Amino acid sequence: MRILITGGAGFIGSHLCDRLLSDGHEVICLDNFFTGSKNNITHHIGNSRFELIRHDIIQPILLEIDQIYHFACPASPVHYQYNPVKTTKTSVMGTINMLGLAKRVNARVMLASTSEVYGDPKVHPQTEAYWGHVNPIGSRSCYDEGKRVAETLMMDYHRQNKVDVKIIRIFNTYGPRMALNDGRVVSNFIVQALKNKPITIYGDGQQTRSFQYVTDLVEGSVKMMNINNFVGPVNLGNPDEFTIKELAEMVVDLTGSASSIKYLPLPQDDPVQRQPDISLAGKKLKWTPVIKLKDGLEKTIDYFEMLLKNSNIKDYV
Ligand code: NAD
Ligand code: UDP
Repeated sequence: MRILITGGAGFIGSHLCDRLLSDGHEVICLDNFFTGSKNNITHHIGNSRFELIRHDIIQPILLEIDQIYHFACPASPVHYQYNPVKTTKTSVMGTINMLGLAKRVNARVMLASTSEVYGDPKVHPQTEAYWGHVNPIGSRSCYDEGKRVAETLMMDYHRQNKVDVKIIRIFNTYGPRMALNDGRVVSNFIVQALKNKPITIYGDGQQTRSFQYVTDLVEGSVKMMNINNFVGPVNLGNPDEFTIKELAEMVVDLTGSASSIKYLPLPQDDPVQRQPDISLAGKKLKWTPVIKLKDGLEKTIDYFEMLLKNSNIKDYV
């Protein structure tokens, strides 16, 4: 198949490029390089089944493709809040453009939605049936509400125009190729620990997240894309839940770091707890994550160690 990956030069998108090329497909990687990097995909340059396009998805594009993995959108709060109007445009106009393209060339399109559609959840763990608890006017809204509208657009193009759509709701995912300046918790803590700088815990560190290693997500995404008669939404995440303080301690331990812990104010609307209920993914996709947090962290630490050794950029975090 010929497959389009929007956000293909980003953290998750680049792992999808690897997987789909190794499965023998033709891959078109589309990115505006806002948070993505050519370094994530240069190893594919020269492969005749790989094409790279610099393009911003808020503008329409016409390509002949069979499937679209629609992953373009900044995902770290630091980056999606940098230009919040642009973030909403990326989710809304970008998704309309991808749905219009899918409709025109009769392609299957899958949206990378997020656990953020559940907001600061009042139901725990979160099932797909939960409608969420989202502040529509806060500093996270450009991302949360943007993705909620993107989901609405997916379902309306499906009902109104019979577009073949899929929705995955991704929970916190980490791994190699997160950017040094990504700003999310796993990369921040690892880079801080490797530099023996203070680990920045926001709030008291008792808030929880459930961390999924990137290859587990890629496996779930590919399964979801290729199953028939199931639109979703489906949660893809690892249900092992940790407090942010536990994560900090684990990273310090695994890196053997001399870092101390520094407590900083909690950002607005920071969700208190988050854990996916993945029974639907288990039932429909026969999928379950297999990488334990400690093992995934070790691989990610190795990546950042290598990056810091070869990098001139010393003071991001
Ligand atoms: P990322 O920031 O590394 O990747 C996003 C990619 O999209 C980047 O390459 C960026 O340059 C590109 N992009 C952004 N705006 C664009 C635009 N207007 N036009 C073209 N390209 C654009 O983030 P990620 O963690 O790899 O996330 C990928 C997708 O998965 C996002 O849609 C995100 O919302 C979703 N997601 C990720 C997580 C996670 O924990 N990593 C959780 C939930 C959802
Ligand atoms: N966080 C933290 N220190 C950091 C970065 C994040 O304590 O340096 C916290 C953040 O406040 C949140 C959790 O870690 O409670 C996860 O944050 P992240 O930005 O990774 O993802 P999200 O909040 O979108 O789940």
